[in-house]
Amino acid sequence: MRKPKIVVLGAGYGGLMTVTRLQKALGQEEADIVLVNKNDYHYETTWLHEASAGTLHHDRVRYDIDNVINRSKVEFIRAEVQDIKTDEKKVILNTGEIDYDYLVFALGGESETFGIQGLKEYAFSISNVNAARQIREHIDYQFATYATEVEKKDERLSIVVGGAGFTGIEFLGELVNRVPELCREYDIDYAKVRIYCVEAAPMVLPGFDPELVQYAVALLEKKGVEFKIGTAIKEATPEGIKVAKGEEEMQEIKAGTVIWAAGVRGNHVIEKAGIDNMRARVKVNPDLRAPGHDNIFVIGDSSLIINEEINRPFPPTAQIAMQQGEVCARNLVKLVRGTEGELETFKPDIKGTVCSLGDNDAIGVVFGKKLTGTKASFMKKMIDNRALLMIGGPSLVLKKGKFNFI
Ligand code: FAD
Ligand code: NAD
Repeated sequence: MRKPKIVVLGAGYGGLMTVTRLQKALGQEEADIVLVNKNDYHYETTWLHEASAGTLHHDRVRYDIDNVINRSKVEFIRAEVQDIKTDEKKVILNTGEIDYDYLVFALGGESETFGIQGLKEYAFSISNVNAARQIREHIDYQFATYATEVEKKDERLSIVVGGAGFTGIEFLGELVNRVPELCREYDIDYAKVRIYCVEAAPMVLPGFDPELVQYAVALLEKKGVEFKIGTAIKEATPEGIKVAKGEEEMQEIKAGTVIWAAGVRGNHVIEKAGIDNMRARVKVNPDLRAPGHDNIFVIGDSSLIINEEINRPFPPTAQIAMQQGEVCARNLVKLVRGTEGELETFKPDIKGTVCSLGDNDAIGVVFGKKLTGTKASFMKKMIDNRALLMIGGPSLVLKKGKFNFI
C-alpha cells in the first residue's frame, strides 16, 4: 500500500514542532514526511527585535534546520511556497510542485499595513532575519551619515516606532540600549536623537496589566522614548510619518527611520489558495483543520482561534504555535494510522506573557504572578531557551541558548 505523504509548509515554531514530533512518533514505513521552507535555517521570530536593534547578532537568532530534523525520516525541500491547489492536492513552489495527502500550513504571519499609504515603501517591519539586518544597518547608516555630513539634518537621527504592542515595546527596549552605543561609536550627542513611539489606542500594550505597563513606560521614557498615545499613523513619506490624534489636525514627524510594528496578518498564500480566511488567517476547526478541508491543518500565525471567555481571537504567539504543532502531529498520527475516534481538540494553555525591555529588564505575568526587572528578564530568557529545548533538545540550548542572566 502507498504510504501517505505529509507535507509541512514552514520551519517556524509551528512547523518544526510538528515535524520533530512526527519524526519521533512515526516509523519510516508509516508515512513520508516532507518539510518545505524558504531557507535552510530556522529563525527565532521572537528574538528578531534584538537583531533589528543590533543588540544581538543575526546569526545568533537562527540555526540550521538540519540540527533538528532526522534526514532519514524527513525530506527537506528548500523552496518558496507560492500557491496551493487544494483540488489537486498540490503545492506550487518556486522550484516546481509537490503533491500531498496531508498538508500542514505553518508559514507564519506577515505585516499588516491596513492599506496605510507609504508604509510598504518607507517603513520597515520586523519580519525575518534579513529584514532585521536591514533595519540594523539602516539605523547604523543614518548615524554614520549624520556624523560625516556637513549640513547636519537632526531628523536623520529620529526613529519612529509605530505601534506599542509587544513587538514595538520589545524593540524600543533594545533600541534604548543600542542608541547610546551608536552615539559613542559615531561621536554623536545622544540629546540629538529622538525616539518616538506612536500608538493609536489610548494606552501602551492595550489590554495588558496597567501596573506593568506603567513600569515599562516609565523605564522607556527615562531612557528617552517619547510616547504619542491615542495617535494613529496615517501615512508614511520619504521624510517620516503623518499622524493624527482624534479630530486634531494631521501632524508630521520627520524621521530617518520608521519601524512599522502595528499589526500582523496571516500568510498571503492562504488567500491565494482560496481557503476561507479573515486577513489571511483561517478560523480552524477544534482539531486544527481548515473548515471544508479534511486533509489540511493550519497552525501558528495563519490560524485563528477564538478565546471563548472573551469571544475574541487569541493573539497569535509562538507559545500557541508550538502547542498547536504538538496537537497537529498527534492528530496526523491518528489519521495516518486510521485510529478510530475523534481527533484531539486544541486548547491553548497560556502559561503567561513576558515582554522584554532590553537585555536585563522586562515585565510579565507568569502563572498568574506579576514580575518586573531582572526576575522578569530571567523568565524571558528561560522561555526563549525552552523553545529551543522543545524543538532541538538540550544540545540546541547549549548551542543557541541565552545564559547572560545579569
Ligand atoms: P514563524 O515562526 O514565523 O515561521 C514561519 C516560517 O515559514 C519561517 O521559517 C519562514 O521563513 C517560512 N516561510 C514564510 N513564508 C514562506 C513561503 N512562502 N515559502 C516557504 N517558507 C516560508 N510570541 C511569543 O509567544 N512570545 C514572544 O516573546 C514573542 N516575541 C515576538 C517578538 C517579535 C519581534 C515578533 C515579531 C513576534 C513575537 N512573537 C512572540 C510572536 C511569534 O513570533 C509568532 O507568533 C510565531 O513566530 C508564529 O509561529 P509560526 O510557526 O506561525 O511562524
Ligand atoms: P499587535 O497587533 O499586538 O499590536 C499592534 C499595536 O499597534 C496595537 O497596540 C495597535 O493599537 C497599534 N496600531 C494599529 N494601527 C496603528 C496605527 N495606524 N498607528 C499607530 N498604532 C497603531 O502587534 P505586535 O505587537 O506586532 O504583536 C503581534 C503578535 O505577536 C501578538 O499576538 C503579540 O502578542 C505577539 N508578540 C508577543 C510578544 C511577547 O509575548 N513577548 C512579543 C512580540 C509579539
